Amino acid sequence: MLWLKNAHVIDPAQGISGIMDVAVQGGRVLTLGQGIAAAGLPDGGEAEVTDCAGKYLFPGLVDAHVHLREPGQEEKEDISSGSRAAVRGGVTSLICMANTSPVIDSQALVAFVAERGRRAALARIYPMAAVTKGMRGEELTEMAELAASGAKGFSDDGRGIQNGEIMRLALEYAKLTGCPVVSHCEDEFLAGKGVMRRGPASAAHGLTGVPAAAESVMAARDVLLAGETGGRLHLAHVSAKGTLAALRAGKAAGWDVTAEVNPHHLILTDEDVPLTNSDFKVNPPLPSAEDRDALLAALADGAIDMLASDHAPHTWEEKACPFEEAPFGMAALETALAALWTYLVRPGKLTAERLIDAYARRPAERFALAAGTLKPGAPADMVLFDPDWEETVTAESMASKSANTPFLGRKLRGYPVKTWVGGHLIFERRA
Ligand SMILES: [Zn+2]
Repeated sequence: MLWLKNAHVIDPAQGISGIMDVAVQGGRVLTLGQGIAAAGLPDGGEAEVTDCAGKYLFPGLVDAHVHLREPGQEEKEDISSGSRAAVRGGVTSLICMANTSPVIDSQALVAFVAERGRRAALARIYPMAAVTKGMRGEELTEMAELAASGAKGFSDDGRGIQNGEIMRLALEYAKLTGCPVVSHCEDEFLAGKGVMRRGPASAAHGLTGVPAAAESVMAARDVLLAGETGGRLHLAHVSAKGTLAALRAGKAAGWDVTAEVNPHHLILTDEDVPLTNSDFKVNPPLPSAEDRDALLAALADGAIDMLASDHAPHTWEEKACPFEEAPFGMAALETALAALWTYLVRPGKLTAERLIDAYARRPAERFALAAGTLKPGAPADMVLFDPDWEETVTAESMASKSANTPFLGRKLRGYPVKTWVGGHLIFERRA
């Protein structure tokens, strides 16, 4: 038995935030409470005791938006290296996107990803399946079969579904599976060849900009389609105020719509983009300061349901080229929690309780994963978090194969120091 004493436990699913003890047995949470008495434990307190004073203990994070690149792009990441990166970042369950090569659009490939995840034996890895065959946006996949094989949602993430009728059908058919359709909202005509958010900053750099409407127009369409079909819609990486208007309207109407935001869209803006560093190139692009503030407000008030990293690793060689030519995407699994803590929780812009609610409880609930809480009987997926642990982000320190993060070289404060999955200690941070 594992007995964790005097931790500041945060578990929004139980409305808990306070100093407590947690006992774990058989891979599950046995009990938790203030000053658990050894006599009350089934084996009379025969336990491995860890004193957690000064640290937080919360459910392992659940990341609903991760690119692990396997099969087909293992030079960027594979399921094993991505799993190591996840647990270093406090993520114990994740859903990985279908835009691999080949695309995850068959039962065999869904099963392959799940099996590779089990073999890596670190975080719990769940596959997202594509909405359309080959992600060509033309013909729906066999959704019921894919869900039966273990897919937790459907997404052509990486590309927007340009054809509204295909999206309508996807929302209709996905209802049979209970899984959400996850929309990467991007109108390709509006986005054009843009490489950063359109505005004064893109003009100053002389770079082609993507208008915020490239996202919001499609988000509005998809919210309306969710309303019409009664389908279950999840908006990936919301980055614009107009998208929030559509999201709030859909929720007010009682439609089954949720949304996520990525840490980089809450912390950085288009004004931070250096022309010489393509690690800041991401899709959707970094927002204006006004939009960034609106995103943070929407996360705090619950209009945006959850946090997700959109971990999108690329090799150094791919990123080491002019800004216009570099691929979109940031490696984020290992820095997401530390960056959120450093830039949002520490300055009082986001509470620790809402962070854990949005990055554990809500995604687990939305995608029906057995995770996101420390209720007795739940899998003992847990993070011990030291709010004062300081570390500089370096390529060498990362388990991911890629280090394309805008936080490279920055010192972040607040890191996971121990991560357990199913009661097994699978990561311990050392100085
Ligand atoms: Zn996307």
